[in-house]
Amino acid sequence: MNEKKLPITAARLEEIIAEYPTPFHLYDAQGIVTNIRKFIKAFSWAKNFKEYFAVKATPNPYIMRLLQREGVGADCSSLAELVLCEKVGITGDNIIFSSNDTPYEEYAKAMELGAIINLDDITHVAYLEAHGTLPNRLAFRYNPGSLKHGGNTIIGLPEEAKYGMTGDQIIEAINYCKTRGVERFGLHTMVVSNELDIQGLIGTAELMFNLALRVKEATGIEVDFIDFGGGIGVPYRPEESAVDFEALSAGIKAAYERLIEGNGHSSISLAFECGRMVTGPYGYLIATAIHRKDIYKHYIGLDACMANLMRPALYGSYHHITVVGKETAPLDHVYDVTGSLCENNDKFAIDRQLPKIDIGDRIVIHDTGAHGHSMGFNYNGKLRSAELLLNEDGSITQIRRAETLDDLFATLDFSDL
Ligand SMILES: *Cc1c(COP(=O)(O)O)cnc(C)c1O
Repeated sequence: MNEKKLPITAARLEEIIAEYPTPFHLYDAQGIVTNIRKFIKAFSWAKNFKEYFAVKATPNPYIMRLLQREGVGADCSSLAELVLCEKVGITGDNIIFSSNDTPYEEYAKAMELGAIINLDDITHVAYLEAHGTLPNRLAFRYNPGSLKHGGNTIIGLPEEAKYGMTGDQIIEAINYCKTRGVERFGLHTMVVSNELDIQGLIGTAELMFNLALRVKEATGIEVDFIDFGGGIGVPYRPEESAVDFEALSAGIKAAYERLIEGNGHSSISLAFECGRMVTGPYGYLIATAIHRKDIYKHYIGLDACMANLMRPALYGSYHHITVVGKETAPLDHVYDVTGSLCENNDKFAIDRQLPKIDIGDRIVIHDTGAHGHSMGFNYNGKLRSAELLLNEDGSITQIRRAETLDDLFATLDFSDL
């Protein structure tokens, strides 16, 4: 169970809206910091434990800075994400570049920043050498292929996924790279997404520890770090529960002791690169109900749309919705909650039981702190909203202003029409 409620009162929300009109995303700094501290503390047994925040989840320098202060690094997969790190002052070992299908200029930028380069394919070794030299440390992304319990809906089945390389290819790559001056090796994978079952996450760790043993046997190389990827889930539904970090950590520790220490492998630094669980539950899309429509179904139209939050339309994802001031009212109405795009899937909820909604009601869409604003797009010329940070002292910082039509038209030249 987890309670879906705003970290501020309705009156405070109205004060904020008076300054920053809806829609906007509101992020709770205190929630983010408290949660990440718990996560890092749970893994204090692990050597050099590091969480690299998946920047794509919430690519905002203020959020990155908040996490940087907690000792969190950055997981990047594009040039823009690397440049954001540079601007925030996140460099060197604090960045892992876990990209795929990567243009060379992006590798070059990552190497310039001293990031850990994580290759998605064996051919990328030759690609790097064709354009420059190999860094002296490399990680390889593992795709285990068919797994007993399969993957899940966001990543899909590993053998159907475009990411990573086979175990044989990793061994071949390491054997080759050690003849080319690469001295330190890491292993990476990401086989689950939005996983709330810790057995799936512990299973990922076991998979990687076994791979490290296999690499040692086949190449004589002991890898010095393993990155389990992201994928820790968010309890989007009120009846779900957040992952118990202590229980997860205990399961991984037991696997580490059994497989790594038990087989005489040298100690290995451990890392995650989670995005979703770091910021997801601490973000709220705040919107206003602007239309109600009753035809064959009942619709509530918001001033927000899929441009602000794509997950429901893209994956059919559930995001909990509450109506400010009606938190305890009976859920005796059934609505589709929609945005304004000319796309019938522009719906935040379908057949959702909600209290009676009136025009002007403030609608809170929960758990939008990760893969929310960042996935936004400009279809139909819709503008992306502002992002606001609720600071630990209760004040508000606008950490990204809302887009304007001038932003939207900035790449057009009307002068020669
Ligand atoms: C998206 C992604 C992550 C973060 O995943 P979450 O589900 O947000 O934890 C981490 N690593 C890689 C390579 C990714 O693509």
